[in-house]
Amino acid sequence: MNDRKPSTPAEIAAMLQEYSINPTTQRVEIAQVLFSRCTHLSAEDVFMLVNGESSRVSKATVYNTLGLFAERGLIREVIADPTRVFYDPNTAPHHHFYDTSTGKLTDISADKVHISGLPAVPDGMSVEGVDVIVRLRPASVSNS
Ligand SMILES: [Zn+2]
Repeated sequence: MNDRKPSTPAEIAAMLQEYSINPTTQRVEIAQVLFSRCTHLSAEDVFMLVNGESSRVSKATVYNTLGLFAERGLIREVIADPTRVFYDPNTAPHHHFYDTSTGKLTDISADKVHISGLPAVPDGMSVEGVDVIVRLRPASVSNS
């Protein structure tokens, strides 16, 4: 999913510093959970994984840290629906399938989606990116 695959705490700490994030022990642990799996995780998933592995990290710390990581561009926040926010360690441009029946998010590579036509952007603005979420549901089987 990503070229950048730091795994040791020292590599994770160096990566955090590249993003101007002070690498506290808890931040390193949280980043390690995300980058070792390289998959989309909810804050709840991160909270459970971090506490399953080592020291105790509060829910508030997990939420604040994920928010900081997203703000600094280390990870990407994907809002599949208002109740399902995922944190994605893959910050390269790509899109997502969201399975509304299972709540699972999977990647679609950027070259598989072609956007032909965007409205003119307001004066003084430029397009930072376009994220597409394709929502899926089981196809209804009809034999009629
Ligand atoms: Zn993704």
